[in-house]
Amino acid sequence: MPSVLRVALPVPLPTLFDYLPPASGEAVVGGRVLVPFGRGKAVGVVIEVDVPTTVGSARLKRVLKVLDETPLLDAELMQTLAWASDYWLGAPGEAYANALPLLLREDKPLPETGEPIWRLTMAGESARDAGSRRGSSRALLQALSEGPMSAAELDISIADWRAAARRLVDAGLVERDERAQTSHLDLVTSAPALHPEQEAAVAAVAKALGSFQAFLLDGVTGSGKTEVYLALIAQTLAQGKQALLLVPEIGLAPQTVRRLRERLGVPVEVLHSNLAEGERARAWLRMRSGEARVVLGTRSAVFTPLPHAGLIIVDEEHDNAYKQQEGFRYHARDLALVRARALNVPVLLGSATPSLESLANVEAGRYHGLHLRSRPSAAHPPQVQIIDMRAQRLDHGLSPALMHTIGETVARGEQVLVFRNRRGYAPVLLCYSCGWHADCPRCEHPLTLHAARRRLICHHCDYQTGVPAACPACGSTELKPQGQGTERLEEALVAQFPQMPVLRIDRETTRHRDAFETLLDNLQSDAPAILVGTQMLAKGHDLPNLTLVAIVGVDEGLLSIDFRAGERLAQLVVQVAGRAGRARKPGRVLLQTHHPDHLLLRSLLANGYGFAAKQLLAERKQAGLPPYGHQVLLRAEAHQRPVVDAFLSEARDALPDVTEWQISGPMQAPMPLRAGRHRGQLLIESATRRNLHTALRPWWMQLSQLPSARKVRWSIDVDPVDL
Ligand code: ADP
Ligand code: ZN
Ligand code: ZN
Repeated sequence: MPSVLRVALPVPLPTLFDYLPPASGEAVVGGRVLVPFGRGKAVGVVIEVDVPTTVGSARLKRVLKVLDETPLLDAELMQTLAWASDYWLGAPGEAYANALPLLLREDKPLPETGEPIWRLTMAGESARDAGSRRGSSRALLQALSEGPMSAAELDISIADWRAAARRLVDAGLVERDERAQTSHLDLVTSAPALHPEQEAAVAAVAKALGSFQAFLLDGVTGSGKTEVYLALIAQTLAQGKQALLLVPEIGLAPQTVRRLRERLGVPVEVLHSNLAEGERARAWLRMRSGEARVVLGTRSAVFTPLPHAGLIIVDEEHDNAYKQQEGFRYHARDLALVRARALNVPVLLGSATPSLESLANVEAGRYHGLHLRSRPSAAHPPQVQIIDMRAQRLDHGLSPALMHTIGETVARGEQVLVFRNRRGYAPVLLCYSCGWHADCPRCEHPLTLHAARRRLICHHCDYQTGVPAACPACGSTELKPQGQGTERLEEALVAQFPQMPVLRIDRETTRHRDAFETLLDNLQSDAPAILVGTQMLAKGHDLPNLTLVAIVGVDEGLLSIDFRAGERLAQLVVQVAGRAGRARKPGRVLLQTHHPDHLLLRSLLANGYGFAAKQLLAERKQAGLPPYGHQVLLRAEAHQRPVVDAFLSEARDALPDVTEWQISGPMQAPMPLRAGRHRGQLLIESATRRNLHTALRPWWMQLSQLPSARKVRWSIDVDPVDL
C-alpha cells in the first residue's frame, strides 16, 4: 500500500482526501497544500502524513504544491477543529476552511504582516481639498495631512474612518502602505478604581490564569462587565500572554476597540466579516506569530491562533449570533470553552441575560458564577411598568398612556426609545371586504407593507411586488394595513410630535455601511429626540439622555411555539430596558401588551431576569428540553414536497435503534415553504449526549450516500438554536 497524505478540502462531504506526497517539498500536518480536485485545483489542510490508504493507486493523485513549510494551524487548533467537526457533525473540510481567513484559503503567498498605514498620495497632498469634503472624509484628510497614520491611531481619532478611507482611496487622494513594526500607543487612559464586586470578579478569574476554568459573569448592562474584561486583559498582557475577546456583532466593535486601545496601550487586532480580506488575514497571522496580543472579533474569530494564550472572553454570551446557521454549524461560545480547556486558560462568559445553558452549567458546578449587581453608571435601576392594551383606543398601535409619557419625557428635554422588533409599515395588508391578504407566493407567509417604498416585501425570501390598488380577490378597494412596523410607528410619532426629531433605526434606514454609527453619533448630543427601532438598538452605544424605553409588540414572543421563545423574549426585554437611564437620570420602561397577566412577563417584571430564567429552566427540565436534553435536527428542502418526505423517511429508517432516543418526524418545518422550497425536518432527542454523537456520525455518512439525498438540500444541526 502506498503511503499518502490525508487532506481536508473545503467541500460539504464527510470525508478527508488522500493524495500522494508532492514531487518536491515536504508537506506538514497543519500546513496547506494545493491539490488536483475534480476538474480543477483546491487548497486543503494536511491532517495526516505518511498514512496507509485504501484508495487504488490508479486513482491516487499527487499533491501539486506545498504552500506552507511550517504548520499554519498549530497542534491545538488542529485538535480542536477535529473535535469540532466531530461534535457538530460537520464536514471536516468545511470546519478547517472556517478556521482560515479567506485569503489564506487561496493559492497565494502569505501576506506581509506589517501594520497597514494610510497616507496622502501626491494628488492628495497637492489637492488639499479637505474643505470640499465633509464628515469623516474631511477629518481623515486633515489628520493625514500631518503624516501617515495606522489603523490603531485612526480608530481612536476618527469614527467611520474606514468608509472614508475607501472613498478617498478610490478618489486617488489616499493610499495604503505598511509599517514594518507595530507601533505602541502612548495615549493610555487610566482605569477607574473597581468597585468591590468588580474586584471580586477580577480576582477570581485572575487566580485561575494559567489553568482552565469557566466563569459566567452575570451583570446588568452598565454594571461594569467591560471594565472587568479590561482589567483581566491587562493582567494577561502583563504576563506576556494573549487575550481573545469575542463579541456577537460588528456593530458593537468600534466603541469597544477604541476603549481597549486607549486603555491597554497596545494595538488591538480586529477580526470580523466587514473587514477587507487582507486585513483579516494579517490580523490572524499577527496573532499566530505572537506579534499581536489582543484580538477582538465576532464568531469566526474563535478560530484565531493563540500560541501564547492567556485568556478567552465571550461577551453577550447568550447571543444567537454565535451560532453559525449554515455550512459548518458550530457555536462559537461552546467552541471557546473547548479551546480554553485545550489551551489550559480561563474562559469568561459575560452577559446581562445569560443563556439558560450557561445558567444550568453554573448550577451544575461546571462554571463558576460571578455577579455584578450594582450599576456604577446609574443612580437607580429603571422602573418597569406594564400597559394593558386590551381596553385602550390605540393610535397606530400606541396607547394614550404611552403617548402621554413620551410627550412628558421629551418635554423635559430627554430622549425616548420606542422599540418594535419589526421593520416596514405593517406586517399584513388585509382586504376588509373579503378577508384576502397579500401573501408571498414563494413562502405562503404575509408580505410586509413598506409604505414609503410602495412595495410589499417578503421578510423571509425578499420577494417583492407592488401594492395593489384593489383586492385581487373581490375587487374592493378596502385594503388596510394590519399591525405596526417601525415605519408606521415613526409616522404616528411624527404626527403626534411634529416639533421633535424622530429617528428610525432599522435595517432599512441603516442599509448604508456606516449609517448606524452616524445616526447614533448624532444622538450623543443631549437634545430631546424620539428613536424608533428594532433590536439593532437593543445594545451598544451609551445614550446618557435616554430615559424612557417603550417596548411595543412583544406579544408574538409570548405566543410562539418555539420552546426558546420565552428565553429570547426575556433577554430582549431586559436588554432593551437596559438602555434606559444609563446616566445619572432615572430610567423608565413601559411595556405594552395584550397579555398583562402572562406568567413570564409577570415574573420578569416582578423578580428580574435571574428569577424568570430559573422558572424557564425548571420548565425545560420537566420537558426534557435543552439544556437537560440534547437535540440533533436533520433539515431538508426541495421544490417538491414528496422528495423531501421521501428523503426524511429514508433517513429515519436508517437511524440506529437506540431505545433512549425520541424521534419526531418526518414533519414539516415551522415554515413549511420558504422561497419556493418545501421544508421538512426530523428531530432526534436524547437525555444523554454520549450515544448521540457516536451513533449519529455513521448515520450521517450513510445519509450522504442515499440516492434521495441528491434531490434535496439537507443539513444536520447539532444543538440547533432555531427549530
Ligand atoms: P457593561 O459592560 O456591563 O455594560 P461597562 O463596563 O461598559 O458596563 O460600564 C458602564 C459604565 O460605567 C462605563 O461608562 C464605565 O466606564 C463605567 N464604570 C464601570 N466600572 C466603573 C467603576 N468601577 N468606576 C467608575 N466607572 C465605572
Ligand atoms: Zn377582497
Ligand atoms: Zn417569501
